[in-house]
Amino acid sequence: MKAVVVNSASKANIEVVEKELRPLQAGEALVDVEYCGVCHTDLHVAAGDFGDVQGRVLGHEGIGIVSEIADDVTSLKVGDRVSIA
Ligand SMILES: [Zn+2]
Repeated sequence: MKAVVVNSASKANIEVVEKELRPLQAGEALVDVEYCGVCHTDLHVAAGDFGDVQGRVLGHEGIGIVSEIADDVTSLKVGDRVSIA
């Protein structure tokens, strides 16, 4: 998958990279994101206002479709449309 990550050596302190997804852990769900906002918190993180977080994935407050759930997740099912914060 592609992800926007913090990189202070690049223009605007961010870059788009390929990321490998790890297997789901207990309590997690995988969501295929349809739309994602960029809020002011992301801008602060990219600017280093909360410390050096090189490589941190940015973006939250999205909407998407659940594509996979961990074995212990009972509140969601594959195909649900969810908001993520
Ligand atoms: Zn936010």
